Amino acid sequence: MIEESFEAKGKRKRLIEELRSKGINDERVLGAMGKVPRHLFMDDAFLRHAYQDKAFPIAAGQTISQPYTVAVQTVLLGVGKRDKVLEVGTGSGYQAAVLAEMGVKVYTIERQRELYRKAQIMLGDLGYRIHFFLGDGYEGQPQYGPYDGIIITAATAEVPDKLLKQLRIGGRLVVPRGERDSQVMTLYERRGEDDYEITTHGYFVFVPMLRGIANGNDRD
Ligand code: SAH
Repeated sequence: MIEESFEAKGKRKRLIEELRSKGINDERVLGAMGKVPRHLFMDDAFLRHAYQDKAFPIAAGQTISQPYTVAVQTVLLGVGKRDKVLEVGTGSGYQAAVLAEMGVKVYTIERQRELYRKAQIMLGDLGYRIHFFLGDGYEGQPQYGPYDGIIITAATAEVPDKLLKQLRIGGRLVVPRGERDSQVMTLYERRGEDDYEITTHGYFVFVPMLRGIANGNDRD
């Protein structure tokens, strides 16, 4: 069990109020984000900023998403207890922890070995039971599908057909779609075998979704 200070709890509470003021009103999502100790997912250099509503660098040239972004994606995903979700881009593991805190069964893929290892250790220490994969999210994890939700936490211009096919009918896929500098948050709701309803939900900036397992820091 990891102990945490009153200070972290207080800062987290203020962050939740800030998210509320920015229009997030899904209590299940706010409740989960109010419990997950975000500071434990950050590098020491950024610890004191852990409860600011900002993205920060993590290892391997990647970032932990801004809390507001995590909230928007989680609300759009629209999943709950015992639903099965595939995440592409484990990163720090924070988004996976928020989903697990909501009672979701999480399967998460990362292409950076260091992040895959770190997240596995951190989430294990925190008592979350999550399935981790080192691999290429473009392939998904068909053997555990179909999923009630798929959340892509890296930017891609094209949504892989393989991932759309791993969604159950009625399931939802959330993806920041676009090129490097700006992406539009896009929701795909699978209505039938080849029928997807697509809606868009504002602009965001993510690190790119890249192919294959990484051979080093992506910003080198
Ligand atoms: N969900 C993360 C955000 C991580 S940033 C969090 O809560 O911290 C996006 C992550 O996607 C990076 O770690 C990057 O390495 C990873 N990524 C990029 N392309 C990928 C791919 N094809 N498959 C799996 N992971 C990928």
